[in-house]
Amino acid sequence: MNGNETTGMGGGPESAPLDRAERDVVALGILVAAILLFVGTGSTVLGSIARSYLYGEGHADAMLGNALILNIALIIFGWRRYAELTGEVRERRKAEEHARLLAETDPLTGCLNRRSLDCAVEDLIAEAAQRGEDVVLAMIDLDRFKRSNDLHGHQAGDAVLVETARRIRALLPERSVLARLGGDEFTCAAAFAPGHVAAIENLAARLNEAIALPICWNDTKIEITGSIGLARSEIVPDTSARALSHRLQHRADLAMYQAKKGGRHRYCWFDPSMERELQFRAELERGIREGIERGEFVPYYEKQIDLATGELTGFEMLARWRSPRFGLVSPEVFIPVAEEMGVIAPMSEGLIRQALLDAREWDAKLSLSVNISPIQLRDPWFAQKILKLLVEANFPPSRLDIEITETCLHENIGVVRSLITSLRNQGITISLDDFGTGYSSLAQLRTLPFDRIKIDRSFVSTLGRNKDSSTIVEAISSLGRGMDLPITAEGIESDVILAELQKYGNFKGQGYLYGEPESAEDVRRALADSHMLAAAATAPAAQSEPPRAAHG
Ligand code: C2E
Ligand code: CA
Ligand code: CA
Repeated sequence: MNGNETTGMGGGPESAPLDRAERDVVALGILVAAILLFVGTGSTVLGSIARSYLYGEGHADAMLGNALILNIALIIFGWRRYAELTGEVRERRKAEEHARLLAETDPLTGCLNRRSLDCAVEDLIAEAAQRGEDVVLAMIDLDRFKRSNDLHGHQAGDAVLVETARRIRALLPERSVLARLGGDEFTCAAAFAPGHVAAIENLAARLNEAIALPICWNDTKIEITGSIGLARSEIVPDTSARALSHRLQHRADLAMYQAKKGGRHRYCWFDPSMERELQFRAELERGIREGIERGEFVPYYEKQIDLATGELTGFEMLARWRSPRFGLVSPEVFIPVAEEMGVIAPMSEGLIRQALLDAREWDAKLSLSVNISPIQLRDPWFAQKILKLLVEANFPPSRLDIEITETCLHENIGVVRSLITSLRNQGITISLDDFGTGYSSLAQLRTLPFDRIKIDRSFVSTLGRNKDSSTIVEAISSLGRGMDLPITAEGIESDVILAELQKYGNFKGQGYLYGEPESAEDVRRALADSHMLAAAATAPAAQSEPPRAAHG
C-alpha cells in the first residue's frame, strides 16, 4: 500500500553508519585473510605435523604450528565479530524501519500522514502512467465531527477516527494510498483504467455508506457521515508527478467543499467552475481590500416617508461599491464577503463616517438610518466607536437610527441587550430590520428595547398578490400596536401596495415608489431643490465646507 521507500528517514548521524560499515569491511577482510592463510599454510603445516606423529618422519616446525594455532584463533575471532556485526545491522535496520514508520504514519489510525502522502501519490501517479491508468484522489471529511467530539468526548472521537480509517481501508483496492491529514480529514488515491467512472462512483457511494454506519463505543452509538470530493488525473505531458499530485489534492479539496455545501453525506466530482469561482472570490477579496484603502465604498441613500402625510422623514444609508473592475456593486455581494474576510467593521465605520458628514448638510429634522452587521455587534467597544464617530462629525445622536437585523438576536442575546441599552442611553434609536424573516420570538421582542420594527420587503412587495403576505403584514401591524412599536414598511414599489398597506395602519415606508437609493450628490441636489438643506449647507461655499474627519 505504501510504495514510499523514502530514504534518510529516522537514521542517526550521517557518519555512524559509515563507521559501522568500515568496521564491517575490516572484520570481513580479517576473516577472509585468515581463511586464505589457513588454506595456504594449513595443508603444508598440517601435512608435516601428521607425518611426524603418524610415521615419526621429520619433525613438525614449531613456529609453523604456532602460526597455525594463531590462524585458527583469528578465524574464530573474525567469524564471531562478523556474526556480531550482522546482528547489530539487523537491529539497526529494525530501529530505522520503526522510526520511518513513525515519521510516515499517523500513530492513531496507522494511515500515512500528511508528510508522506505526497511521495506516495507521486509514486502511484508514476506507476499508473506507465500502465496507462488514471489516478483518482478522494478527499474525505467527516461531517460535524467537532460537534460529535464535543458531545461524546475526545476518546470517542479517536475511536470514530480509527474505525473510519478501518472501514475506508477495507473498501479500497489493492495498492491504494490512504492518509489522514490530521483532524477528521482523510485522503485516498487509487489507479483505475481510464473510463471506469462508474466503478469509482460506486466505490465513493460505498465509502459513504460504510462511514455512515453507526459506531458502537462504550454502550453509545455514534452516528457520523462523511463528505467526499473526487478528482481525476489527466496525465499532462511535461507535468511532474509532484505538480499532478498537488493539483489532484487541491481539486479534490474544492470538490469536497462543494459536497459539504450541497448538504453533506455525499460525493462530488471536481469541476473547473469550482476553480473559477475560487479565482473570482480571490479577485473579489483583493478588490475589497484595495477598495477600502482607496475609499471606493460609498453611501447611497433611500428616502423614508411618513405614509400618512407623504412627508420625507429621513434616509436609510445603503452601501455601494464603486469598483473600477466590477462597476457599481450591490451590498448583497460584498457585505457577506467583507464579513467573512473580517473587514466589515472598518468598512462600515468608513461608510458611517461619510454618511454622518453627508447628513449634517441635510435639514435637522431628517434622520439617518444605518445597517449594522451581526459581526460588529460582537465588538464590546461598538457603542463607544459609534459615539466617537458622532462626536467627530458633530452629529446629534437623536438623528441617528441603527438597524439591527433579526438574525443578530440569535447571537448572545445578553450582549445584544446591553449594547442596545447603551446605544439608546446616548439618544440613538434602534430599529429591528427585516422583521418576519428571522423567527425571533415575541418574548425576545418584549425584552429588547427596540424603538421601531421594519417589515421585511419580501412581505410588503407582494402585498395584494399573495394572501399570506397580507396576513403577515396585518399580524405585524397589530403586534406593533399592542407593543406600542412604530412600524416602517420596506419595499413599497407601487400605488397598489401603498393603498393595500394603508388598510393596516399608519406606517412609515420606503421603496422604489419614492425612488431608488441615490448618491450623496443626487440627494443633496434634490434636498436643495426642495429647500431641505441645513442652513449652514446653503450658506456661501467658503463657509459651508464641513470639517472633514480623517479616514482611518
Ligand atoms: P435592507 O436593509 O433590507 O435594505 C433594503 C434593500 O432593499 C436595499 O437593497 C434597497 O435597495 C432595496 N429596496 C428598497 N426599496 C425596494 C423596493 O421597492 N423593491 C425592491 N425589490 N427592493 C427595494 P440594497 O441596497 O441592495 O441592500 C441590500 C442589503 O444590504 C440591505 O438590506 C442591508 O441588509 C445590507 N446593507 C446595505 N448597506 C449596508 C451596510 O452599510 N452595512 C451592512 N452591514 N449591511 C448593509
Ligand atoms: Ca435596513
Ligand atoms: Ca430589510
